[in-house]
Amino acid sequence: VQEWHLTARPVGRPKPEDFRLVARELPAPAEGEVRVRNTFLSVDPYMRALMSTTQTGDLAYRLDRPMTGGAVGEVVESRAAGLSPGDLVLSALGWRTGAVAPAEHFTLLRRVNGVADSAFLGVLGMPGLSAYVGLTEIAGLRAGETVFVSGAAGAVGSLAGQIARLRGAKAVIGSAGSDAKVAYLTGALGFTSAFNYKAGPVHTQLANAAPDGIDVYFDNVGGDHLEAAIDALNRNGRVALCGAISGYHGTEPPSGPRNMVELVKKRLTLRGFEVIDHADLQPRFADEMGGWLADGQISFRETVEDGIDSAVTAFLGLMEGRNTGKMVVRL
Ligand code: NDP
Repeated sequence: VQEWHLTARPVGRPKPEDFRLVARELPAPAEGEVRVRNTFLSVDPYMRALMSTTQTGDLAYRLDRPMTGGAVGEVVESRAAGLSPGDLVLSALGWRTGAVAPAEHFTLLRRVNGVADSAFLGVLGMPGLSAYVGLTEIAGLRAGETVFVSGAAGAVGSLAGQIARLRGAKAVIGSAGSDAKVAYLTGALGFTSAFNYKAGPVHTQLANAAPDGIDVYFDNVGGDHLEAAIDALNRNGRVALCGAISGYHGTEPPSGPRNMVELVKKRLTLRGFEVIDHADLQPRFADEMGGWLADGQISFRETVEDGIDSAVTAFLGLMEGRNTGKMVVRL
């Protein structure tokens, strides 16, 4: 197999030289193990944190070891009950072409008619659940409210905006980093309005898009987006803090929103969440999202890069907005 290793901890924006593609022979599966050939790898913004020295959790990437990440694959050899050759599985053994590991590392997936297997890394996977949880459980969206979503043309944001529409939001406003993405939001995805945050100050553009204010903000970006949203929020407004990608390459802590006193005056709630804490909602999410997809009520895109060689460029491209919808690597 071929697998990517992190060879140096990036400072600021990672460089291709911080990574190395390594070839390795895998052992034959032992009793209780399976051999899997990966077919799709996920690249996600959280991986940037795992590359840093400041990340101390168990998940942090170790230097010169295979990197981890979401992957969909096919069982090619099994010495474990419950998994057979041909089975489609999800694992955290991404950034590599294949793996031999105990069966517990793999979740058996049921293929969905008309949906590519890569969907389990996006619309039907972790990003989809993040959008669903953030909007419904964390922000507690109610019908008739006005919602603002940043990073709206990405994997999570594109779904958060559409779920808001399906849950009866009065208006859904999105921000993204190009005019083409803005057109995608108001076209295929049915956002009420959208703006290009690179074309002018977020504060002014949001105020113009929401003259009556917003009730819920789904934050993927942080920084100036969060500060603008705090000013635009109506009394009792709620924010689901999903991510803050504008600061992920930063070498200094980002400056906080300067208008925190508005939280007091307007009785606002800002609540962060990690999707891993909400695995109990996966079945309900899968049912509901499966229904929306079957009925054609949710539209999604993927940006697909080909080959294990392209995984690092796919990751760096994701961080620069070269994706629309979920960024995946096809093997
Ligand atoms: P996306 O598919 O949204 O890809 C990242 C996008 O971020 C890019 O396409 C780019 O779009 C945008 N971006 C990059 N730099 C900036 C910037 N400086 N300002 C504004 N936008 C920027 O990724 P995901 O959907 O996977 O993740 C979105 C967010 O959700 C991230 O913050 C991520 O960390 C978070 N997340 C959190 C989870 C949780 O459990 N809390 C789970 C999953 C994701 P553009 O062209 O618009 O700039």
